[in-house]
Amino acid sequence: MNNEILLKNLRNVPDFPIPGIQFKDVSTLYKSAKCMRIMVNELYELYKDKGITKVVGIESRGFVVGAALAVKLGAGFVMCRKPGKLPAETRQESYMKEYGKDTIEIHTDAINEKDVVLLHDDLLATGGSMKAAYDLVQQFNPKKTYINFIIELTIEGMNGRAVFDPSIEITTLLRI
Ligand code: AMP
Repeated sequence: MNNEILLKNLRNVPDFPIPGIQFKDVSTLYKSAKCMRIMVNELYELYKDKGITKVVGIESRGFVVGAALAVKLGAGFVMCRKPGKLPAETRQESYMKEYGKDTIEIHTDAINEKDVVLLHDDLLATGGSMKAAYDLVQQFNPKKTYINFIIELTIEGMNGRAVFDPSIEITTLLRI
Protein backbone atom coordinates (compact mmCIF):
# COMPACT_ATOMS: atom_id res chain seq x y z
CA MET A 1 0.00 0.00 0.00
CA ASN A 2 2.70 2.48 1.03
CA ASN A 3 4.84 1.37 -1.89
CA GLU A 4 1.92 1.97 -4.24
CA ILE A 5 1.58 5.51 -2.91
CA LEU A 6 5.30 6.15 -3.45
CA LEU A 7 5.25 4.66 -6.94
CA LYS A 8 2.18 6.70 -7.86
CA ASN A 9 3.91 9.91 -6.75
CA LEU A 10 7.30 9.23 -8.36
CA ARG A 11 7.72 11.14 -11.63
CA ASN A 12 9.46 9.47 -14.56
CA VAL A 13 11.14 11.91 -16.96
CA PRO A 14 12.12 10.22 -20.24
CA ASP A 15 15.37 11.23 -21.96
CA PHE A 16 16.80 13.25 -19.06
CA PRO A 17 19.62 14.26 -18.82
CA ILE A 18 20.44 12.47 -22.10
CA PRO A 19 18.38 10.48 -24.62
CA GLY A 20 17.59 6.94 -23.47
CA ILE A 21 17.67 7.62 -19.71
CA GLN A 22 14.41 7.18 -17.75
CA PHE A 23 15.04 9.67 -14.94
CA LYS A 24 13.28 8.86 -11.65
CA ASP A 25 12.49 12.30 -10.29
CA VAL A 26 12.26 12.04 -6.49
CA SER A 27 11.37 15.73 -6.16
CA THR A 28 7.74 14.65 -6.54
CA LEU A 29 8.16 12.38 -3.49
CA TYR A 30 9.95 15.08 -1.52
CA LYS A 31 7.23 17.68 -2.16
CA SER A 32 4.51 15.37 -0.82
CA ALA A 33 4.06 15.50 2.96
CA LYS A 34 2.48 12.04 2.86
CA CYS A 35 5.37 10.48 0.89
CA MET A 36 7.95 12.12 3.14
CA ARG A 37 6.18 10.68 6.17
CA ILE A 38 5.97 7.20 4.60
CA MET A 39 9.67 7.18 3.60
CA VAL A 40 10.97 8.45 6.94
CA ASN A 41 8.70 6.16 8.96
CA GLU A 42 9.57 3.07 6.90
CA LEU A 43 13.28 3.76 7.20
CA TYR A 44 12.95 4.45 10.90
CA GLU A 45 11.35 1.01 11.36
CA LEU A 46 14.22 -0.61 9.43
CA TYR A 47 17.01 1.09 11.37
CA LYS A 48 15.64 2.03 14.82
CA ASP A 49 17.33 -0.93 16.55
CA LYS A 50 20.68 -0.77 14.74
CA GLY A 51 22.32 1.82 16.99
CA ILE A 52 22.90 4.27 14.11
CA THR A 53 24.90 7.29 15.31
CA LYS A 54 25.51 9.01 11.93
CA VAL A 55 23.44 9.16 8.77
CA VAL A 56 25.63 10.06 5.79
CA GLY A 57 23.69 11.62 2.89
CA ILE A 58 25.10 11.76 -0.63
CA GLU A 59 24.91 15.11 -2.43
CA SER A 60 22.35 16.30 -3.03
CA ARG A 61 19.21 14.19 -3.23
CA GLY A 62 20.49 12.04 -0.36
CA PHE A 63 20.37 15.03 1.99
CA VAL A 64 16.60 15.35 2.13
CA VAL A 65 15.33 12.08 3.60
CA GLY A 66 18.76 11.39 5.15
CA ALA A 67 18.54 14.46 7.39
CA ALA A 68 14.89 13.85 8.32
CA LEU A 69 15.71 10.24 9.20
CA ALA A 70 18.73 11.28 11.28
CA VAL A 71 16.47 13.49 13.45
CA LYS A 72 14.01 10.63 13.97
CA LEU A 73 16.80 8.14 14.77
CA GLY A 74 18.46 10.55 17.19
CA ALA A 75 21.59 10.40 15.01
CA GLY A 76 23.84 13.08 13.56
CA PHE A 77 23.83 13.93 9.86
CA VAL A 78 26.97 14.06 7.67
CA MET A 79 27.22 15.48 4.15
CA CYS A 80 29.14 13.55 1.50
CA ARG A 81 29.89 16.21 -1.13
CA LYS A 82 31.55 16.95 -4.42
CA PRO A 83 35.08 18.42 -4.24
CA GLY A 84 35.56 22.02 -3.14
CA LYS A 85 32.22 22.35 -1.31
CA LEU A 86 33.25 21.42 2.23
CA PRO A 87 35.24 24.22 3.92
CA ALA A 88 37.39 22.32 6.46
CA GLU A 89 39.86 19.43 6.13
CA THR A 90 38.43 16.44 4.23
CA ARG A 91 39.06 12.83 3.35
CA GLN A 92 38.46 11.96 -0.30
CA GLU A 93 37.67 9.02 -2.52
CA SER A 94 37.89 8.99 -6.33
CA TYR A 95 36.04 6.67 -8.67
CA MET A 96 35.59 6.14 -12.39
CA LYS A 97 32.43 7.32 -14.09
CA GLU A 98 31.31 6.76 -17.67
CA TYR A 99 33.25 9.82 -18.80
CA GLY A 100 36.27 10.27 -16.56
CA LYS A 101 37.01 10.42 -12.86
CA ASP A 102 34.89 11.82 -10.03
CA THR A 103 35.78 12.58 -6.41
CA ILE A 104 33.70 12.85 -3.22
CA GLU A 105 34.60 14.23 0.20
CA ILE A 106 33.63 14.08 3.87
CA HIS A 107 34.99 16.33 6.64
CA THR A 108 37.82 14.59 8.51
CA ASP A 109 36.13 15.16 11.89
CA ALA A 110 32.64 14.06 10.75
CA ILE A 111 32.89 10.33 11.58
CA ASN A 112 34.89 8.40 14.17
CA GLU A 113 35.61 4.80 15.18
CA LYS A 114 32.68 4.69 17.62
CA ASP A 115 30.12 5.50 14.93
CA VAL A 116 27.56 3.16 13.40
CA VAL A 117 26.91 4.68 9.98
CA LEU A 118 23.89 4.56 7.69
CA LEU A 119 24.75 5.70 4.15
CA HIS A 120 21.72 7.02 2.27
CA ASP A 121 21.02 8.10 -1.31
CA ASP A 122 17.89 8.45 -3.42
CA LEU A 123 18.65 5.86 -6.10
CA LEU A 124 20.85 2.84 -6.86
CA ALA A 125 21.72 2.52 -10.56
CA THR A 126 25.22 1.13 -11.32
CA GLY A 127 26.24 1.48 -7.66
CA GLY A 128 29.42 3.39 -8.58
CA SER A 129 28.78 6.51 -6.52
CA MET A 130 27.60 4.63 -3.42
CA LYS A 131 30.55 2.23 -3.63
CA ALA A 132 32.89 5.23 -3.54
CA ALA A 133 30.95 6.69 -0.59
CA TYR A 134 31.14 3.34 1.21
CA ASP A 135 34.90 3.12 0.62
CA LEU A 136 35.28 6.72 1.82
CA VAL A 137 33.36 5.96 5.03
CA GLN A 138 35.58 2.91 5.63
CA GLN A 139 38.60 5.26 5.76
CA PHE A 140 37.15 6.43 9.12
CA ASN A 141 37.01 2.84 10.42
CA PRO A 142 33.47 3.00 11.90
CA LYS A 143 32.04 0.09 13.94
CA LYS A 144 29.59 -0.81 11.16
CA THR A 145 28.17 0.69 7.97
CA TYR A 146 24.69 0.10 6.53
CA ILE A 147 23.47 1.25 3.11
CA ASN A 148 20.01 2.43 2.04
CA PHE A 149 18.38 3.79 -1.11
CA ILE A 150 14.80 4.87 -1.69
CA ILE A 151 14.83 3.33 -5.19
CA GLU A 152 16.73 0.37 -6.64
CA LEU A 153 16.77 0.20 -10.44
CA THR A 154 16.59 -3.35 -11.73
CA ILE A 155 15.32 -2.61 -15.24
CA GLU A 156 17.38 -3.63 -18.27
CA GLY A 157 19.55 -5.98 -16.25
CA MET A 158 20.77 -3.22 -13.91
CA ASN A 159 22.27 -4.79 -10.78
CA GLY A 160 24.00 -2.12 -8.69
CA ARG A 161 24.09 -4.45 -5.68
CA ALA A 162 26.68 -6.58 -7.45
CA VAL A 163 29.45 -4.03 -6.78
CA PHE A 164 29.08 -4.47 -3.00
CA ASP A 165 30.38 -7.28 -0.84
CA PRO A 166 27.38 -9.53 0.01
CA SER A 167 28.10 -9.08 3.74
CA ILE A 168 27.03 -5.41 3.54
CA GLU A 169 23.38 -4.90 4.52
CA ILE A 170 21.61 -2.92 1.78
CA THR A 171 17.93 -1.96 1.91
CA THR A 172 15.73 -0.24 -0.66
CA LEU A 173 12.10 0.90 -0.38
CA LEU A 174 11.17 0.54 -4.07
CA ARG A 175 12.52 -1.77 -6.75
CA ILE A 176 11.80 -0.62 -10.29
P1 AMP B 1 25.01 5.13 -9.77
O1 AMP B 1 26.32 5.62 -9.21
O2 AMP B 1 25.10 4.68 -11.19
O3 AMP B 1 24.37 4.09 -8.87
O4 AMP B 1 24.04 6.38 -9.84
C1 AMP B 1 23.36 6.80 -8.73
C2 AMP B 1 23.27 8.31 -8.66
O5 AMP B 1 22.92 8.88 -9.92
C3 AMP B 1 22.20 8.71 -7.68
O6 AMP B 1 22.70 9.78 -6.90
C4 AMP B 1 21.03 9.14 -8.53
O7 AMP B 1 20.52 10.34 -8.04
C5 AMP B 1 21.58 9.35 -9.94
N1 AMP B 1 20.87 8.54 -10.96
C6 AMP B 1 21.40 7.60 -11.78
N2 AMP B 1 20.50 7.08 -12.63
C7 AMP B 1 19.34 7.71 -12.35
C8 AMP B 1 17.99 7.61 -12.88
N3 AMP B 1 17.66 6.77 -13.87
N4 AMP B 1 17.04 8.41 -12.34
C9 AMP B 1 17.35 9.26 -11.34
N5 AMP B 1 18.58 9.41 -10.80
C10 AMP B 1 19.57 8.65 -11.30
